[in-house]
Amino acid sequence: MNGTERYLEEQYASLGISKEVYRFGEKIEHELKERFEEMNKRAEYNQMKVIKAMQENRVSAECFQTSSGYGYNDLGRDTLEKVYASCFKGEDALVRPQITCGTHALALALMSNLRPGDELLSPVGKPYDTLEEVIGIRPSKGSLAEYGISYRQADLLADGSFDYDAIRAAINEKTRLVTIQRSKGYAVRPTLSVKKIGELISFIKDIKPDVVCMVDNCYGEFVEEKEPLETGADLIVGSLIKNPGGGLAPIGGYLVGKKEYIENAAYRLTSPGLGKEVGASLGVIQSFYQGLFLAPTVVCGALKGAVFAANIYERLGFDVLPDGTESRHDIIQAVTFRNPDAMTAFCEGIQAAAPVDSYVTPEPWAMPGYDSDVIMAAGAFVQGSSIELSADGPMKPPYSVYFQGGLTWYHAKLGILMSLQKLKERNLVNTNLL
Ligand SMILES: *Cc1c(COP(=O)(O)O)cnc(C)c1O
Repeated sequence: MNGTERYLEEQYASLGISKEVYRFGEKIEHELKERFEEMNKRAEYNQMKVIKAMQENRVSAECFQTSSGYGYNDLGRDTLEKVYASCFKGEDALVRPQITCGTHALALALMSNLRPGDELLSPVGKPYDTLEEVIGIRPSKGSLAEYGISYRQADLLADGSFDYDAIRAAINEKTRLVTIQRSKGYAVRPTLSVKKIGELISFIKDIKPDVVCMVDNCYGEFVEEKEPLETGADLIVGSLIKNPGGGLAPIGGYLVGKKEYIENAAYRLTSPGLGKEVGASLGVIQSFYQGLFLAPTVVCGALKGAVFAANIYERLGFDVLPDGTESRHDIIQAVTFRNPDAMTAFCEGIQAAAPVDSYVTPEPWAMPGYDSDVIMAAGAFVQGSSIELSADGPMKPPYSVYFQGGLTWYHAKLGILMSLQKLKERNLVNTNLL
């Protein structure tokens, strides 16, 4: 061990990571060297993509000026939308602090591009929880169902593949928009690669060419070289407090895609007749630029954390999804503990490693919309930001925790080592395996 390595081990010890846990982590990290190299290359590719988009659209210091009131002629806002369109390969974009979260961005895309009598189809099973109320699967005020927009769903097959027969049967003369969720979210199904999404879209367009194919891109941005607009999607939608905000955007959502669908969304977000012309940027626009600039590196760090966690916990005998060797299409990692105490210890470790609120202890709590208590760990600079290191899960069998984010790889690493430290201190792992 050289001087630097010894200093490092001592620094981890001063944070509460034992030698045994630290060295186990080093061993796993060493084994992942090639995998991490590949991720670095992908981040480098995406970094160049972002810089190119900024250069092509002549981003200048003037773009960082703020606007208030109506926000007419906001150069920074309008240029940023061009940057997003270039970066994600769309005709146009809507990137706004007035879009409050991912659910809002998705609701906006759906409500502005569907009309009474139209039908929405999800060919990849049940969508993300919060969309159930948007669609009206669970009755809710203002849902699509209330406006006479119907919904159909084709579930994935048991092995996670598309049920092409069911999808063909579900498409009819009313089908106007197809929503495809890239990330598994909190479901147990594989995350879809951009290539797979492309295959699905070409199948659907062969049956009905004029259907709008929308992708819920949450947690997927910059994980691969390509994004779904490059494999046939018409519209992609996501949150700025996830991947593309790079941890710096304090709020916001985006839509990128065909001009017509972006226009529809703009007239819905503000007002018919006003569209993209209004919407002050209120001083946050620089963080949107800078966050996008950092996003490829941040996503890379989060991905390394996910792969590191998968390999650590797989080695210790827990079920992990995706497994330690699978290719990645989003930043979410699930670990199944089959033991409430282990799940709690894991979350306590993530919390204890945070730069903010490290001294608080997460406790399972009742949450609206859940039928069991939920435990959450997060010590974030931006409230609820899940590109920052965070973990949560429902306190019920099989006691699976969903873990994501990390603004830097080093922080993600500390979080995972701290989670293991907590499990070890409570005799919840087989230490012979360390
Ligand atoms: C996070 C997420 C959403 C909703 O975003 P919020 O910002 O939490 O409203 C929708 N779909 C997927 C796949 C997500 O991961």
